[in-house]
Amino acid sequence: MSSTKYIFVTGGVSSSLGKGIISASLAKLLQARGYTTTIQKLDPYINVDPGTLNPYEHGECFVTDDGAETDLDLGHYERFLNVNTSQANNVTTGRIYKTVIEKERRGDYLGKTVQVIPHITDEIKHRVRQLGNTGQYQVVITEIGGTVGDIESLPYIEAVRQLKWEMPKDVLVIHLTLIPFLTAAGELKTKPTQHSVKMLQEFGITADVLVCRTEHPLNADIRRKLALFCNVESSAVIEAQDAKSIYEVPLLMEKEKLDQVVLQKLGLSLDKEVELSKWKEFVHKLYNPKKEVSIGLVGKYIELKDSYKSIAEGFIHAGVANDCKVNLQWIHSESLNEANVKEKLAGLSGILVAPGFGHRGIDGKIAAIRFARENNVPFFGICLGMQCAVIEFARNVLGLAGAHSTEMDAATPHPVIDLLEAQKKVTHKGGTMRLGAYPCVISEGSAAADIYKKSTIYERHRHRYEFNNEYLRDFEQKGMIATGINPEGGLVEIVEIKSHPFFVGVQFHPEYKSTVENPHPLFVGFVNAAIKVKSGVPAQKA
Ligand code: GLN
Repeated sequence: MSSTKYIFVTGGVSSSLGKGIISASLAKLLQARGYTTTIQKLDPYINVDPGTLNPYEHGECFVTDDGAETDLDLGHYERFLNVNTSQANNVTTGRIYKTVIEKERRGDYLGKTVQVIPHITDEIKHRVRQLGNTGQYQVVITEIGGTVGDIESLPYIEAVRQLKWEMPKDVLVIHLTLIPFLTAAGELKTKPTQHSVKMLQEFGITADVLVCRTEHPLNADIRRKLALFCNVESSAVIEAQDAKSIYEVPLLMEKEKLDQVVLQKLGLSLDKEVELSKWKEFVHKLYNPKKEVSIGLVGKYIELKDSYKSIAEGFIHAGVANDCKVNLQWIHSESLNEANVKEKLAGLSGILVAPGFGHRGIDGKIAAIRFARENNVPFFGICLGMQCAVIEFARNVLGLAGAHSTEMDAATPHPVIDLLEAQKKVTHKGGTMRLGAYPCVISEGSAAADIYKKSTIYERHRHRYEFNNEYLRDFEQKGMIATGINPEGGLVEIVEIKSHPFFVGVQFHPEYKSTVENPHPLFVGFVNAAIKVKSGVPAQKA
């Protein structure tokens, strides 16, 4: 193949239409036809990356193997494609400007006036082409964050126009739009889409394909009308009806022939059939579970479920692997205390305590962990969840009153979770945590070894604080064992209580590596333990 093809996905009419899922679904279909495909997200905000954003803003911050803090859509890309993304797959306006301003300060522009066009747009184009230039991908799909017409996304739209002009055969634009249903009129309405396509045209871009989010099927009339008013062929009007699960969307897009339209327009061969048998089996199992189990997710950002996106998806993958529907119960950590925990967590077959930052909701998390530990309820702690399990054990088993993490209590008499020396000097917030994939060596005979069936694993991190090894002996003597250790620095990465049916805390974020094809073993093992507890299999004491 001579050159990489570039597909841009823009959004119109409304935000939250699911550009990420449509992009990931198209990528899945192209991958299923044998095309190497990657997806990139361009975010129009000024933050250099989403690492400094509160999860309430745009949901979870997804972390890649190479330690990039990225938009949560990259999680969807990885979960769908089962291929790792990297820093190059997520670029923000902040990062673009930072690069251009640094170049200007170095004198790279040789005295020229630095302007949005061409300097910012050149940098955007460079970031898009960079993925194609790796030679690894036949198709690069780039999702433009925001909605067409937003002031902040104008430079991106302009960069797309330029690229389409420069490579007319290799660039395709898909516009994702909404066809609202007016109940009073009993009709689907195309006008908002006409307007948003017109706006794209004002910026010099003609959409090649329209993907239309709709609650009702688009009839032939509507398709014809959209084609006529929006300058697209009627075969390129793709209906995207609401699906019960995001994992059904690639199958719906296949039925609508989105992949065929795209390949034809890009002049790519359609010879290879779509091979999605595993994916179909996954969706079939997802829609036909043999059993159900309730698991509590204890966290403080639960008002916005996207804050825990990868965890929720990890449970979907692990549920399917266990032929089981996982009913996630979202429990606000601030609503829990020692007095009500028994009543609030009653009926759960497993408790996950979520990652997080800061003091809010910590006491509720600790109360939930104590309840799980004392009542043999399977427990899974991730990052802050693991740190809270350590604090709870220190206080209630080791008798270390006031034990805490120095993140919450700098003056604690027992800093069982503490900053590494290297972190103490850090003052800048952005990109300075322990980030990305690190190795971890697992002890033989541990639950982790049984679950992973490997002695060395690589998991992704995003935290500053660590288990304080000065206390390790005391913990191990009382039954909380470090079963996963970073081989370079001796940092504790996994803790377990062996006398418990399932009590595992991990300093890393396994949820970032769970995909449809490779459900994460820790999630699979945890759901399996919850199923056993629910069906009354006695707790296995060590
Ligand atoms: N706040 C904790 C730390 O920085 C945990 C972070 C997390 O849960 N991702 O170490």
